[in-house]
Amino acid sequence: MDVVTLLIDRQDRAWQHRANCMGVDPDLFFPERGASTREAKAVCRGCVVREECLEYALANGEKFGIWGGLSERERRRLRRQRVLSAQQRTALVS
Ligand code: SF4
Repeated sequence: MDVVTLLIDRQDRAWQHRANCMGVDPDLFFPERGASTREAKAVCRGCVVREECLEYALANGEKFGIWGGLSERERRRLRRQRVLSAQQRTALVS
């Protein structure tokens, strides 16, 4: 990996230093299938970088865990909604 890529990557992830989950057990954010996500989502609820975290997960196709306060299923739903909205906007313009 080159320096530019490293710097960009670091800049992209600068928000992580302000994350509410710093120092919290990562297992909480990657629960076993069917396990509760409530505790992780409670940590996310008060997180000042929730938006950045969610957008990072969406942009990078994170398939597992709680990111930005949303589960995999909730992120999939959001992604589908965004695609549909973009398609509807495109249809309105053309
Ligand atoms: S939104 Fe949740 S997972 Fe993302 S940085 Fe904040 S506390 Fe961590």
